Amino acid sequence: MSILIKNARMLKPDFTLAVGDIYIEDSRISEISSKISIEAEEVIDAGGNLVTPGLVNLHTHSGMGLLRGANDDLELAPWLEKLWKIEAKLTPELVYWGSMLSLLEMVKTGTTAFLDMYQDLDQTAKVCEELGVRGFLAWPVVDEDKTTQKGKPLDNAKRFIKDWRGHELVNPGVGPHAIYSCNPDNLAKAKELADKEGTFIHMHLAETRWENETTLENYKERPVPLLESINFLGENDIFAHATWVTKNEIKTLAKARVKIAHNPTSNMKLATGGVMPWKEMKEAGLTVGLGTDSVVSNNNLDMFEEMKFAALLQKAHRWDQAVLDAREAFSMATYEGAKALGLDYGIEEGKLADLIIVDLRNHLMVPHHDLVSNLVYSANGSVVTHTVINGRVVMRDRKVNGEDEIIKKAVSLAKDLVIE
Ligand SMILES: [Zn+2]
Repeated sequence: MSILIKNARMLKPDFTLAVGDIYIEDSRISEISSKISIEAEEVIDAGGNLVTPGLVNLHTHSGMGLLRGANDDLELAPWLEKLWKIEAKLTPELVYWGSMLSLLEMVKTGTTAFLDMYQDLDQTAKVCEELGVRGFLAWPVVDEDKTTQKGKPLDNAKRFIKDWRGHELVNPGVGPHAIYSCNPDNLAKAKELADKEGTFIHMHLAETRWENETTLENYKERPVPLLESINFLGENDIFAHATWVTKNEIKTLAKARVKIAHNPTSNMKLATGGVMPWKEMKEAGLTVGLGTDSVVSNNNLDMFEEMKFAALLQKAHRWDQAVLDAREAFSMATYEGAKALGLDYGIEEGKLADLIIVDLRNHLMVPHHDLVSNLVYSANGSVVTHTVINGRVVMRDRKVNGEDEIIKKAVSLAKDLVIE
């Protein structure tokens, strides 16, 4: 498969702009120059619009797609109670269509790769292949007395990795849910499995003060030292949240070269209280990407909004306008997330062809003083006209194959999830 994108304005990794054509062969950008005259199977005239790397959503639960708007504005205990009642009704079919809705939204808002953890992940994996989205899927591991999975979660994780390894767009991993749902023995086994299989770990960490307090009560350690004591920390760990961590714990995480997924909207909506200490993490040299979390705690998967909220939350929290600027927010949502997942991102020859075209005539992108400022502070996902993933055009002129059916199915199937 070959694609020629003509008349593009390109955002380079150093934030300079270049003008020219882009040639994509199979899954990679093979050539960039001022004019390319080689034939291609598909030609897109960008008409001077902006080509940027695709956005990377570093923490979400796509299978929850049909739960949007079903559970808001409650305190933690009644919120969880209601969520579990709804989730008890989920079937593989509902997770499949929930994932369809979530991935459709990702494609329409310029996300090209995502990191996920949820039940019935085989359904989400199928959707990645059907819609053409790059998924990193961490099989949820919780203690056996807490799971609804048939069989042992660790055995199921092993099976999932075996079944999906080697698929082009699906990257299977291990997802120990959190310290409060997975005991240290299971955490160590999950880590062992991920290391043995040469894959990644995705886990919620230090999200709330309650999590710190219960970990201290149960294990006489805070979450990060506990993980350190069982040799859990390593460069294949990607932790979501890390909002309640100390300066010393940040040093420990940086030394172990773990990766962090920041979820500003979810943290604000669920009132986690703590704000992820971005400045200290940056100074320690940690890789920090950006995630939306699920549509129950966000309630959308638009990474453009997430960039803006990331910047605004830090500014409001630190009383410092410069603490997280537009370029840093854009990097978190693209290059840093890609780095956490081991993806080679950027509009350069040899890099993965995971990219988007942004309409520079959309009112949210006008005028053109600073296009990165527009992307972060003004735009939302509706400015994206084309989404290319792994060298395949997944959205063309804002149209995605099968879109109408996904919407129809999602509306009708979600009725089964209503609870009084
Ligand atoms: Zn989460």
